[in-house]
Amino acid sequence: MQKGNIGVTTENIFPVIKKFLYSDHEIFIREIVSNAVDATQKLKTLAGKGDYQGELGDLKVNVSIDKDAGTITVSDRGIGMTADEIDKYINQIAFSGANDFLEKYKEDAAAIIGHFGLGFYSSFMVSDRVDIITRSYQEGAQAVKWSCDGSPEFTLEEVEKADRGTDIVMHLAEDCKEFLEKDKLEGLLKKYCHFLPVPVVFGKKQEWKDGKMQDTDADNQINDTTPLWTRKPADLKDEDYKEFYRNLYPMSDEPLFWIHLNVDYPFNLTGVLYFPKIKNNLDLQRNKIQLYCNQVFVTDQVEGIVPDFLTLLHGTIDSPDIPLNVSRSYLQSDSNVKKISGYITKKVADRLSSLFKNDRKEFEEKWDDLKIFISYGMLTEEDFYEKAKAFFLLKDTEGKYYTLEEYQTLIKDQQTNKDGQLVYLYASDRDEHYTYIDAAKTKGYNVLLLDGQLDTPLVQMLERKLEKTTFARVDADVIDRLIQKEEAKGEELEAERSANLSAVFESQMPKGDKTTYHVETQALGAEAMPIVITQSEYMRRMKDMARIQPGMGFYGEMPDMYTLVLNTDSELVKSVLSDSEAATEESLKPIEAELRGLRARKAVLQSEQDKKKYDEITDAEREDMKKCTDDIEAEESKKRDVLGAYAAQNDLVHQLIDLALLQNGLLKGESLTRFVKRSVDLLK
Ligand code: ADP
Repeated sequence: MQKGNIGVTTENIFPVIKKFLYSDHEIFIREIVSNAVDATQKLKTLAGKGDYQGELGDLKVNVSIDKDAGTITVSDRGIGMTADEIDKYINQIAFSGANDFLEKYKEDAAAIIGHFGLGFYSSFMVSDRVDIITRSYQEGAQAVKWSCDGSPEFTLEEVEKADRGTDIVMHLAEDCKEFLEKDKLEGLLKKYCHFLPVPVVFGKKQEWKDGKMQDTDADNQINDTTPLWTRKPADLKDEDYKEFYRNLYPMSDEPLFWIHLNVDYPFNLTGVLYFPKIKNNLDLQRNKIQLYCNQVFVTDQVEGIVPDFLTLLHGTIDSPDIPLNVSRSYLQSDSNVKKISGYITKKVADRLSSLFKNDRKEFEEKWDDLKIFISYGMLTEEDFYEKAKAFFLLKDTEGKYYTLEEYQTLIKDQQTNKDGQLVYLYASDRDEHYTYIDAAKTKGYNVLLLDGQLDTPLVQMLERKLEKTTFARVDADVIDRLIQKEEAKGEELEAERSANLSAVFESQMPKGDKTTYHVETQALGAEAMPIVITQSEYMRRMKDMARIQPGMGFYGEMPDMYTLVLNTDSELVKSVLSDSEAATEESLKPIEAELRGLRARKAVLQSEQDKKKYDEITDAEREDMKKCTDDIEAEESKKRDVLGAYAAQNDLVHQLIDLALLQNGLLKGESLTRFVKRSVDLLK
């Protein structure tokens, strides 16, 4: 028997491997099985070229567990190794600067393994001892057994081995016995070896017989050696794609459609990407793409490798050109990876574009499911936006679809305001915004339905991209102010009367810190509702954004701000106005006289102060001004009390407010009960 030292400069590499690679140590099975597959493929290649003339026979790779011995064995009938080859490929792992490298990449097992070609040595992450029993395919080769317990010393001896090929026997370490569980190992094989190109067999298929599970005669083959993406698209039917999808994601709905990727220049890449039906939670849909390297599973964490929005797609990508065994940050800056990423983006856009062109009807049918994906792409990838703007669809509240260009043409004549801005009206809920949609339609306007998760940022982006375009939700203002035209306006109330009427209503609005109401008057026409409640577009949008974007929490904390517009053309509002004026005239007269005096005095003080520099103003002057301001505030407060006292007694005011709140889903709890009771009383 021969003894020797493995050629490493680090005193003992194995504890290092074990420690640093701990979190990923299940990948040992991938490394060992894919070595076996490689050795088998090499033999096939030799045979193909006529360099090997012997029988090929059964080329399956067998994985087995021996619980009593505490071992996992991976056997192949590939090319095997001679003693010299073991020395060259296994013993001479030349480490230069190993310590530095390990220190740098200690978080990244894949990088370490890839860098050192440590595939085989990953078996030491789980083993106390590993044996290689191997016989080369070459005529008359002597079988040998290499054995190593994780120290730099190994033994090598000649042994008897009936068959060509290699057995890797891993004697599992005490803390890794879990891998001896059949289900555990089978799960790992399914994960990492699912699509390896050579059959991998793990024991026998089992069936229920005589009250227990028993082995049948059939091999339990783990893998599909010719996965869908390796086959020619021409040979595949829709059903094949769907079935493959079902196998990959048993719990998912049927995909919308798919793209079969196949490139060999300037890089090599195959794969199938599926457009899933995306439900509401974007995050749950991510990381369903599996990355393979020559059919060996590498990862399903594809962020940074494909553009963010593509992580919403499902499917498989296989490329020998993605440098898989390196760290993530390296991967993201790799030029091949960038090219691949750009290529996939382009492919996806082309596929969508051809579907749109060739079958607009089907495209529209799928649009609601596709929209979130396409929106996401447009928001995050400029290149994708440029392509997608041609097939991005807007849906109106009647369920009709338009491209951006078609929609522009549709609304241009009607919805251009006096400043030449094209105003896109939208609702985010057909029922909730029903009256506003109705009001807009009465004017001959079209209203879009934007009810998607990403519609708020999308609207922001479209406003930036499209010229002279604004989006306004139908409840953001009264319709005439949403799209302002140069039209003769109705008679507006003079300022003082308007302020008093507003104060009457304001005094009766519900008070709370989560919602605030600002009351104003406007002539909206006799046909319109007496009160319209609106919510400023800007604030609402910022609050919507705060919900999906971190760092905008400040807006989220702001109260909801509504504006209550009193329609001074409405008979009911008019009647409140005249009634309140009559009822409060007496009490307001002295207050208003006082106010007029105070305001005049304040104006004089102000103009005197304006003539002076800030530090020339005397304390006495400042004192005067402050007193005058305080007095005005006191009188105004008295005035509010008078108007409030009137309003408190007035059922019509309450009824009008409550109806407006009710229409907007803002009337709740005690107020709602009071409203119902008052309505019943009014019927008596
Ligand atoms: P890599 O596979 O990246 O070259 P490994 O450490 O996994 O690195 O293996 C080193 C070498 O050992 C392989 O290149 C191959 O020549 C040889 N080898 C490993 N496993 C086998 C096997 N099952 N049959 C034949 N040769 C093998």
